[in-house]
Amino acid sequence: MSQVKGLPEGAKIYERSVREVSGAILALVKLAGEKRLFLSRPLPGFPELEEAGAGYLAPLTFPTAQALTRHFPELRPRGLPPGPSFGFGDRIGLATPGHLRALAGARVFPVLAQQSVRENTRTGRNFQDVLASAIFGAFQEGYRGGFGADADHLKSVEAAVTAASLGYSMFTCDPSHLLRSVERLPEDELVARFHALPQAEELAQTYVGKNIPIKGLGRIRFSERDLAAAAVKYLPAVEFAAHMYAALKEKLPAGFDFELSLDEADTPTSPMEHYFVVRELQSREVELASLAPRFGGVLEKAVDYRGSLEVFRRDLRAHIALAKILGGYRISLHSGSDKFSLYPVLAREGEGMWHVKTAGTSYLVALEVAARFAPGLFREIMRLSCERFEEDRATYHLSTDLSRIPELDSLSDEELPQLLEQEDSRQVLHVAFGSILSGRLGEELRRVLIQHEEEYAEALAQHLGRHLIELEVKGNG
Ligand SMILES: [Zn+2]
Repeated sequence: MSQVKGLPEGAKIYERSVREVSGAILALVKLAGEKRLFLSRPLPGFPELEEAGAGYLAPLTFPTAQALTRHFPELRPRGLPPGPSFGFGDRIGLATPGHLRALAGARVFPVLAQQSVRENTRTGRNFQDVLASAIFGAFQEGYRGGFGADADHLKSVEAAVTAASLGYSMFTCDPSHLLRSVERLPEDELVARFHALPQAEELAQTYVGKNIPIKGLGRIRFSERDLAAAAVKYLPAVEFAAHMYAALKEKLPAGFDFELSLDEADTPTSPMEHYFVVRELQSREVELASLAPRFGGVLEKAVDYRGSLEVFRRDLRAHIALAKILGGYRISLHSGSDKFSLYPVLAREGEGMWHVKTAGTSYLVALEVAARFAPGLFREIMRLSCERFEEDRATYHLSTDLSRIPELDSLSDEELPQLLEQEDSRQVLHVAFGSILSGRLGEELRRVLIQHEEEYAEALAQHLGRHLIELEVKGNG
């Protein structure tokens, strides 16, 4: 047992969190089913202290998290160091302790806060809450190894600047709404649109007909049509990204990590497009930390890759070769949960220049805990997820077949976890996360997870740990 004195009656202490600073003992405690920060004496910066026992309690709010980072700077999000990195998205806000246990002994830098505006809207959360959850999770586990915070899939400069002012360190610009579809344009129409661009002349001089050697890939040579297609398709997106980057630079002159995500484009990113986009960003003084191309094959959420591994290997090699020539940024794999067949390829071909983003899979692990410990609640979640499926699937690419899902009423409580193994039911459960987490069932799920937090953390450590083992950044056993 710990030596912390003066705890309020009935408080359970998280042993790994106990720290001393400026003559005060701080620790995370659980009291009446709720987590709080205990301080043996008041410290400056904590705005919401309440006397309790022989000390003080603070609620786990964003201002408390900010105060905590003032006293423990290693809890402040920081930039990605060289080497591979891994995004542990957490839609519920209770997964960080399990994520950090998965990380134990792994040679990979973690991004512990990683949510998009879209995810936050669906779950009723915001950037503050997501970051605070990661900070308190790291504090709870006594983690001091540093982590990043990714404001994911940003579609507005305003949202990027907001996240920057809150302490985020990584910004993923998603200009997919600005990508123009050129694949079906007739040649003359495409050329006319290209020549309507103010930079057309200059671009033609820079790109057309040049042999551009790319070590490990061969060479790239733009025809007039190639350039027209790349420019018409990507220039508005490039301008937008440059605008976002400039606004962030002004806000965070000391530096930040900037990712460009093209993964939600409607066609795979060709090496030529990759080259064009990055060169154009560079000519606008944008320095990339990572690029998320759209890969060939199908990356559906929370299930393994559907496509040819050869296609993925070829794409990855090309993107890595380009990234090495163009500045050494990472190649980022989105929808990276449960892509077990891809990880060995990434480990072997990725040359340590990769970033993987996961999020959905930690939600599914939470549902597995519910299936084991609260089968009644799990049945309600499954039912609502099925009802909501047609609507919730709209923004995802999914090949789910509802008829393959076993009848819920025919399953015994012991059989419920099977629904998390079957791919169709996994997807149905996955895409409904917003419908579940923003309502009553979400509240109940959170209660179950807090009640069974050890089991939740262990299940996450297992499952995300398996991701890291397959990525060959963590030993097996
Ligand atoms: Zn993405």
